Amino acid sequence: MADCIFCRIAAGDIPAKVAGRSAGAMAFHDLNPQAPIHVLVIPTTHYGAASDVTGPAAAAIWTEVMGLGVSVAEDLGLVEPGYRLVINTGRDGGQSVGHLHLHLLGGRRMGWPPG
Ligand code: 5GP
Ligand code: ZN
Repeated sequence: MADCIFCRIAAGDIPAKVAGRSAGAMAFHDLNPQAPIHVLVIPTTHYGAASDVTGPAAAAIWTEVMGLGVSVAEDLGLVEPGYRLVINTGRDGGQSVGHLHLHLLGGRRMGWPPG
């Protein structure tokens, strides 16, 4: 989608600090990090939100996104201290960018419940 900021990052039209790639997903550092490590993982094809991942392609999309998130966490040394994977979905979920993305947060102790 031409007017989607994360599609433009996936296409290389907007620069981002890349943390990893897989066949169908890309990971890059968040512009406004909420933890010492804050990486976003997106499917390279456009899905507006988690609830849009339906149909025959759904399993492959989740495998790409979650698989890359776990792999980048390993690359960044987060397995032993731990980390958090979060997908904000829709208004109440706090989603601000309309292209599905997984947040990988680490490098500090996370609170619960989330705000
Ligand atoms: P959401 O609030 O939708 O769950 O998360 C969107 C995230 O995208 C926010 O953490 C925000 O800082 C990040 N973000 C927004 N625009 C850009 C951008 O142009 N580049 C990068 N790297 N991150 C962005
Ligand atoms: Zn998009």
